[in-house]
Amino acid sequence: MVGVDMVPMKILLVICDGMADRPSNELNGMTPLESAEVPNMDRLAREGQTGLMDVIAPGIVPGSDTAHLALLGYDPMVVYTGRGPFEAAGEGVEVRKGDVAFRCNFATVDAKMHVTDRRAGRISSGTDQLAAALNGMKIEDIEIIFKQGVDHRAVLVLRGPGLSPWVNEVDPHHEGKILESKGLEPEDEKTARILNEFTRRSYEILDKHPVNQARVKNGKSPANIALARGSGSPPEVPSFSEQHHGLNGAAVVGISLVRGLCDLSGLEIIPVKGATGSTDTDLEAKARAAVKALETYDFVLLHFKAPDLYGHDGDAPGKAAFIEKIDLALGEMLANLKDTVVCITADHATPCSVMDHASDPVPVLIWGTGLRHDITECFNELEAGTGGLGHIRGHELMNLLTGLAGRNPKFGA
Ligand code: ZN
Ligand code: ZN
Repeated sequence: MVGVDMVPMKILLVICDGMADRPSNELNGMTPLESAEVPNMDRLAREGQTGLMDVIAPGIVPGSDTAHLALLGYDPMVVYTGRGPFEAAGEGVEVRKGDVAFRCNFATVDAKMHVTDRRAGRISSGTDQLAAALNGMKIEDIEIIFKQGVDHRAVLVLRGPGLSPWVNEVDPHHEGKILESKGLEPEDEKTARILNEFTRRSYEILDKHPVNQARVKNGKSPANIALARGSGSPPEVPSFSEQHHGLNGAAVVGISLVRGLCDLSGLEIIPVKGATGSTDTDLEAKARAAVKALETYDFVLLHFKAPDLYGHDGDAPGKAAFIEKIDLALGEMLANLKDTVVCITADHATPCSVMDHASDPVPVLIWGTGLRHDITECFNELEAGTGGLGHIRGHELMNLLTGLAGRNPKFGA
């Protein structure tokens, strides 16, 4: 017998950030996903398979960065040091091997280095000029790369010999004196010293900057210091394509953290006008961009941030309503897809009752023409527990998808 020559299928992975949840009193004891009207997801559940997934491992509460590393097929327990490099890459700053990257806040301090406003009066303009004043300086033999992000946010990359991500941050996370960075081990001291010096100089330079003089004149808090946290080095991992049998992929992502992570793993980032990474995002535009990208790429990751935001706000009805919007966008996509394995899941649970991430496993759904189905009729946390996929781990998902798409080589003869 000769096997039928199968053309490998494409793969669409839809990640609804923080979508998984727990029963909510406001929704008559249902989860937002259970309570939402999601005819398209339900159809795929009926025609496909569902299951539950521990994105990192049972009991581990995932961050969005570690969760996405796992979903892209990497083991975050081995390769993750901190979120800084993903934030930096997400803001378009190149991060190289050996660099140490941080996320930063422009903040307000008094002359005694007490933080009086961690967001510098929610500064929204002029940060490009402030960042330019810090970018390019040199401390010892270390190059400082600094770029503004959205509002009060910014990223810092240290480049040079002998750096390490294992240092304490200087951001106190509340009003009060800024912290002194220390290295975890003696060999980490250099990085801590550079970071402390950078922090001190950022105050020196920013406090007298014309942008801040104008702010003070207008009764606003000056953005007179850059406070770093979330230190990390870029993970030293094979590219996404190397990791998955030459699969070429792209990502449609609204938030810098996940965008940077996808970028560093070698996925092509598809820019979409109207993708905000928030509740006002243009879902249709993102969905259209994902479908279009599938003409060129074998794999597309489509990420929606908003369910996580509703979870953090404790807004279960809002979350359910947004899930319905995702379902509508999904319906449009399905009408335009062919020969594609579709997977819908979440990177973690953000239960509205917890208002933060939780370790609960997430529901996962896999559908594709000609693939198996199971007895589940709807897509939600409850039914997924009875689905044919059983209980899987996040870092296994990609391999499961490439296998079903007919892209994995035979193991053995
Ligand atoms: Zn997340
Ligand atoms: Zn979150």
